[in-house]
Amino acid sequence: MTHGDNDPFELEAMIALRQDLHAHPELGFEEVRTSQIVADLLAEAGIEVHRGLGKTGVVGTLRVGGGTRSIALRADMDALAMPELGEVAYKSGTPNTMHACGHDGHTVMLLAAARHLARTRQFSGTVHFIFQPAEEGRGGAKAMLEDGFLERFPIDAVYGLHNMPGLATNEMAVVAGPQLASSDSWEVTFHGVGTHGAKPHLGRDAMTAAAHFLTAIHTVVARVVDPLQPAVVSACAISGGDFRALNVIPDDVRIGGTARAYTATVRDQLEAEIGKLAQGIAGTFGLRASYSFMRRIPPVVNDAGSTAAALAAARAATGKPVVTDFPPSTAGDDFAEFGGRVPGCYVWLGNGPAVDGALHHNSRYDFNDAAIATGARYWTTLVEHELR
Ligand SMILES: [Zn+2]
Ligand SMILES: [Zn+2]
Repeated sequence: MTHGDNDPFELEAMIALRQDLHAHPELGFEEVRTSQIVADLLAEAGIEVHRGLGKTGVVGTLRVGGGTRSIALRADMDALAMPELGEVAYKSGTPNTMHACGHDGHTVMLLAAARHLARTRQFSGTVHFIFQPAEEGRGGAKAMLEDGFLERFPIDAVYGLHNMPGLATNEMAVVAGPQLASSDSWEVTFHGVGTHGAKPHLGRDAMTAAAHFLTAIHTVVARVVDPLQPAVVSACAISGGDFRALNVIPDDVRIGGTARAYTATVRDQLEAEIGKLAQGIAGTFGLRASYSFMRRIPPVVNDAGSTAAALAAARAATGKPVVTDFPPSTAGDDFAEFGGRVPGCYVWLGNGPAVDGALHHNSRYDFNDAAIATGARYWTTLVEHELR
């Protein structure tokens, strides 16, 4: 790869690489080809490479000067299990697998920045480049932490970035506080006593309990959570009985759903209150309920100090005002696993207009290569500011 003063980020090669990754997408924990390319390009630049964290995860470490401060920059590498329906020249060659969230771009921007920093070395301290597997619901960040990421690579701050259609490719949004919601799942099963549909008095009707529960769960957000705190409780699946047996009241009815919040307090409330309603309603109707709440992803909450550093870097990288009132999203990102343990900041980088209305996870979505330079410049500026 070539580079020079007027091409600090090897743009031509990096755009080609981005399109190559797009054509060869890999699902979470299966990023074998992608992580090999990442490891090779880091090593070629003289960056220390650590592999095998979270199966396919890669960490690159660059130490310069005597600075004792240490930060991590994180990119995700995985694609989604969905078909690509757009007609780009570098369309996915893997059936039902597609980079529909732009993680191909995230990987390349962090690589471009890492290689640039390894050449220019205008900072003092340690930077760890995290190439995380399996962001899309498969628990890649957690897997890296379970493999000892924080013990092996102690850090003072961690930074994340996601592309965002609707903002220009030289535009960024950096906001302190909640950015993305926690994303948890819950399940309730009402265990009744099945009986003949004509003789309900001889059983304990789990159907009726389920019906009361389904309306009652909306009182958690309406009556328990502080009205000034956002929260979502949704029931998304229900099963019980059989349409071929409409004269049978079943023993059990099972209900499952999602719960979203932006603070630990509200998250705890959702967990406790959904269970309390399930148990209370089961008691009212004389049956039993089992309840489980699966904590999947914590909320992403940007730390004030890290956000100030990110904001300064974003201003310098874009040369224009940074959006500071971008609304939080009820989606989740497991960057929260890092950001919940170490002060951090997660920012948005513009992906240009939504082409044909395609947003994240749409079968025609594509990362915009015009954003690579801005993203790489943001990462390098952040390191140079953070590790002076
Ligand atoms: Zn996604
Ligand atoms: Zn994503």
